Amino acid sequence: MTVQLTNMQTRDVEALLHPYTNAVTHRAQGAHVIERGEGVYIYDNTGKRFIEGMAGLWCCGLGFNNAELVEVAKAQLDKLPYYHLFAGRSFEPAIELAEKIKDLAPGMSRVFYQSSGSEANETQIKLAWYYNNALGRPDKKKIISRVKGYHGVSIVSASLTGLPYNHKSFDLPVDRIHHTATPHHFRGAHAGETELEFSKRLATELEQMIEAEGPDTIAAFIAEPVMGAGGVIVPPEGYFEAIMPVLNRYDILCIADEVICGFGRTGEWFGHQRLNMQPTSISMAKQLTSGYAPLSAVAINAEMADVIENHSGEIGIFGHGFTYGGHPMGCAVGSAALDIYMREDIPAKVRAIEPHFRNHLMTHKDHPLVGEARQIGLLGALELTPGGNAMFSQPGKVGAHLATRLVEHGVILRAAGDSLVFCPPMTITEGELDELFAPIGACLDATLHWAR
Ligand code: PLP
Repeated sequence: MTVQLTNMQTRDVEALLHPYTNAVTHRAQGAHVIERGEGVYIYDNTGKRFIEGMAGLWCCGLGFNNAELVEVAKAQLDKLPYYHLFAGRSFEPAIELAEKIKDLAPGMSRVFYQSSGSEANETQIKLAWYYNNALGRPDKKKIISRVKGYHGVSIVSASLTGLPYNHKSFDLPVDRIHHTATPHHFRGAHAGETELEFSKRLATELEQMIEAEGPDTIAAFIAEPVMGAGGVIVPPEGYFEAIMPVLNRYDILCIADEVICGFGRTGEWFGHQRLNMQPTSISMAKQLTSGYAPLSAVAINAEMADVIENHSGEIGIFGHGFTYGGHPMGCAVGSAALDIYMREDIPAKVRAIEPHFRNHLMTHKDHPLVGEARQIGLLGALELTPGGNAMFSQPGKVGAHLATRLVEHGVILRAAGDSLVFCPPMTITEGELDELFAPIGACLDATLHWAR
């Protein structure tokens, strides 16, 4: 359907190429122009209010107008709007934030900054390669990621991502990146297989992949504790407990991509703590600044830090770094965000509201369009199916239709393929959750009617 575009929408289509957007339908329908935010709400440029069930892009954990973060950003811009960490320079906000990250992530020894999650994972792979070169293991370079994992869009991070539209038409993945199975019991289990049996089988399949490739060629395994953009896939019982011994047996680094799960989202400070994953390094972004400034961080353990630091001494430099990595304003905002998470005990808040969130999701689990409802902390999904665990003939269409209907009812959620995913600000109240879920049943009914 073609609509008459407003002046702003016309300017938008003539000036922008939008990420993750079908440019042809966008040209016909026009942009949804957002103007301001308040708590868990955003307002568009017609003044209409929407409840934001995705915290933007899984990032605004403290909602959309936290005055403390805004003040800290302004103060830092007044004092030192830019500096860098190259060539041994430093500034206190970067040091302070790294100290706080280390306190929250026991076992981590050094922090390296970038601006985005993609850059964090790009850094992770370069560190794994640098580390193995330093150890005289030049062949130990392959990385194992997972189908449906999401790790970003730069050349290597998009290669780590296990979703078709991130590879197709971009000539990806690059070599040395392999994908093992998605830990999704609902879709991946054999008939009658329990979650524990499924987890053990996936660990066996991982081990078979390592053996087939050659253990001396595998540098690292990367995983989100809970897959986010792949559809909020909560791993089955015993998953990381089965995976970890395999990695340890073959001396393979374990990278936790905590870009979504970090800082309370699962009800623990980090998702790996809730899911019993033991990382050698951690990627963080998004809620690190509650989305208020572009900043990401990679934390590495002492063993990696020693090897990398010593190697930089041998070859003369650690030749990696981004102009905006550890931007002073980002670090100041990140430091303030972590103070607020600690002061308000955000992980405990998430655990307290989790049952209410779960009840809402589970209300819809028997809807004819819903195959599975799943949840952990304040992350959730309704997996849409034409029946049982079958797939729709045109993946993504039904999910997109449902998300569009919800917008008409003042609710912003996102379809990850045919999963309707939820990731509200962690400050959301029970009443606001009721509001978020209020139109879901009616929109599921209308979408079922449309799909048939
Ligand atoms: N890793 C995970 C788990 C993510 O969810 C994302 C983004 O959604 C990224 C990495 C990439 O982050 P960015 O979009 O900041 O590059």
